[in-house]
Amino acid sequence: MPVVIDSDCINCDLCVPECPNEAISMGKEHYVVDTAKCTECEGFYDEPACIPVCPVDCMTLVAD
Ligand code: SF4
Ligand code: SF4
Repeated sequence: MPVVIDSDCINCDLCVPECPNEAISMGKEHYVVDTAKCTECEGFYDEPACIPVCPVDCMTLVAD
């Protein structure tokens, strides 16, 4: 279950340093999560570290 970022993303960059797997980077129009790298933060945190820091709530866990 990776995190995905929707088009509400304002490219604020706040989520990037939270990711222990360096899975978040700037995409064509907004930030994106590399689903191959996102582990839901397993082994690092109990919950995805990126979701709570997003000011516009545009990050969600999706079924893969
Ligand atoms: S859930 Fe964790 S591993 Fe996945 S993108 Fe967010 S911070 Fe990175
Ligand atoms: S914290 Fe949210 S709004 Fe900011 S870059 Fe990440 S996904 Fe986009």
